[in-house]
Amino acid sequence: MKEGWEAVIGMEIHAQLATETKIFCGCRAEFGGEPNSNTCPVCLGLPGALPVLNERVVDLGARAALSLGLEIQETSIFSRKNYFYPDLPKGYQISQYDKPFSANGMLTIMTAERDEHGHAMEWKPMKIHIQRMHLEEDAGKNVHEGLPETDRYSYIDLNRAGTPLGEIVTSPDFRTSWQAYDYVNHIRRALQWVGASDADMEKGNLRCEANVSVRRIGETAFNNKVELKNLNSVRFMQKAIEYEIERQIAAHESGEGVSQETRLWDEKNNQTRVMRSKEDAHDYRYFPEPDLQPLKVDSEFIERVKKEMPELPEAMRERFVEVFGLSYADASNLVSDKSLAEFYETVARLSLNPKLSANWTLGEFLRELNNSGKTAAESLLTAEDLAELIKTVESGTINNNQAKEVMIEMFATGKPAAEVISEKGFEQISDSSAIEKIVDDVIASNEANVSAYRGGNEKLFGFFVGQVMKASGGKANPKVVNELLRQKL
Ligand SMILES: [Zn+2]
Repeated sequence: MKEGWEAVIGMEIHAQLATETKIFCGCRAEFGGEPNSNTCPVCLGLPGALPVLNERVVDLGARAALSLGLEIQETSIFSRKNYFYPDLPKGYQISQYDKPFSANGMLTIMTAERDEHGHAMEWKPMKIHIQRMHLEEDAGKNVHEGLPETDRYSYIDLNRAGTPLGEIVTSPDFRTSWQAYDYVNHIRRALQWVGASDADMEKGNLRCEANVSVRRIGETAFNNKVELKNLNSVRFMQKAIEYEIERQIAAHESGEGVSQETRLWDEKNNQTRVMRSKEDAHDYRYFPEPDLQPLKVDSEFIERVKKEMPELPEAMRERFVEVFGLSYADASNLVSDKSLAEFYETVARLSLNPKLSANWTLGEFLRELNNSGKTAAESLLTAEDLAELIKTVESGTINNNQAKEVMIEMFATGKPAAEVISEKGFEQISDSSAIEKIVDDVIASNEANVSAYRGGNEKLFGFFVGQVMKASGGKANPKVVNELLRQKL
């Protein structure tokens, strides 16, 4: 950022809550599907149809709120947000306004600035104030692509109309695009972790908007802000914010100024462009939804939801450091994904070697996962089998390089360690009677060398080891070979 300037950024995230059905009717809330197939009089907004709140939305909303450190309000009120748009058949969206479901959260995230290659420099904790998370229904979709005569027509798909959302709004606490980037990733992981949302930006079940303005350092008033939309990935969002910061600084410095407007990220040209100006700003005329009771929750409900929630990533990271003796960095990497953390924990408990388990999980195993685009939960190689492999390495039956080769095969086929080891012929002969026979043969057929060794030429010991290994096809356990040769020579 140009010296003397700072950015002021606030974030709004819409997360689709992972329910089976919509928020106010029994229609399925799934991604894809024949257009307009998941609809009914309620989500089509037909006259006389009455909304009924889906209890599961409240459960998942509470999980989301608790995972983000928000306070759940005893009473929240659904309101009608009025505006006209083709994808909103009722002419209003049921949302929450002055009495949201949850409010006043203080969230600690880890954030780092990046160098010119995009590599994180020093990770530091940062506190973010989340003003609120309210519950609402989604609108439908206007479709402008892949259908006939889209230059003349817009198409409407109402499958999404009425799917449940949590809208998470922060104070303007961010000063750089990377802080916003790290925040969105934190939210994604937290929501996925507790099962509140799939939080997949590509499928559109997590959408973010950034409010961006800039000011000279030392100023306390805010300048006009720009709302950035159409941010289809966290990386695009970061780029859009970065572009917008530079654009606004230049506009202020040239005296041209910044208008309050909504801008889109234009992927092709790597720039933001105007979507609508303030003149088009809506007056939503919110009023309480007369067809829904105020939503009341008690402490018993909150206690139950807390009990059903999995251990949160921060707590898990601390436990990995304390109980398993891992470094902070290893523990952080493991809890970057819930299924990876759970996988690791099973490996560590079964192999009884937490450190070696962390090395294998974060090394060979994670590399295979990344190469295949799979999550730990989708891996054919199970935690039980990896633990077995680690024990085999520790026992000395196979060496480290062989074990890596074995693991790659296990990952590809889902076969257990023992099967792959015997297929590859890596199995070592540790049975001393079998090795003893080879040792005896070698000694019997090398009389001259035996006398020389016994006469003091100790260098010949290596020769005998080599002969035994050769006779066993490289499979004899070297430790046993050494012991037997020392005995017999
Ligand atoms: Zn419906």
